[in-house]
Amino acid sequence: MKKNSSTTQFLFLALSVSIGHVVSALKGHKEALLVIDVQNCFLPGGSLNVEGGERIIPIINQLRERFEVVAFTRDWHPKHHISFASHHEGMKVFDEITLQYDKDGNLCSDPSRKTSNITEKDCSEDEIEHTVKQQVFVDHCIMDTPDSALSQELVKQKNDIVVNKGSNPEVDSYSAFFNNGGFEKTELEALLDEKQVGKVYVVGIALDFCVFWSAKDAQKLGYETIVIKDATKGIFQESMDHAVEEMTKQGIQILTSESVLGSGKEEL
Ligand SMILES: [Zn+2]
Repeated sequence: MKKNSSTTQFLFLALSVSIGHVVSALKGHKEALLVIDVQNCFLPGGSLNVEGGERIIPIINQLRERFEVVAFTRDWHPKHHISFASHHEGMKVFDEITLQYDKDGNLCSDPSRKTSNITEKDCSEDEIEHTVKQQVFVDHCIMDTPDSALSQELVKQKNDIVVNKGSNPEVDSYSAFFNNGGFEKTELEALLDEKQVGKVYVVGIALDFCVFWSAKDAQKLGYETIVIKDATKGIFQESMDHAVEEMTKQGIQILTSESVLGSGKEEL
């Protein structure tokens, strides 16, 4: 009897651990539309205009009618931001820089860099924990300005989720979920989980930067992830091709809006 009881206890414990593990990896059953950075700054007349960005807005408005959960992200930078070429001596827009951070996410100083107004720390080799490569851009999407507002043309509803990213002056955030070093999270995953989302459809700007990194992180976090390609706009053809290839390799589906809108509403 004693043996049976402890065997039962062991089995129960093993089962709980196993179920617990599976449950923690599972997401909810709902679907969400993630609209990445459809802000004035990335549209005609904006600080970092991505050509043709305005043409995806009617498609996004049509798509959103099919979703119970819609989340918008905003690139939301302070006036001085590490991703601005103007803060890096001799750097041109779209040049690549290398940034290093310690374990607490402090930016390590680099004598070749001119980053007045951005806090840096002298790090020893041992202290460097994260090395991040990224492009630099024109000054763009400064928080709380008309330039960083979501496009007026987008249909918005009061229950929509809005998440800001890139607000830390020392580190950029292409992804809607994590910063570029992967050491800081936005609230997006928690908000989607609260609404029991398990599948995300990603659209917006730019396909080869923020859409790409957001989709990759969504997939990594356990969401079934789809990118609706004609509801995105990118910057460089070569990096867009690379992004699509990488996403496909990782199991992210690339669909057209026609195929999503054409499928029955009951399936969404
Ligand atoms: Zn930015």
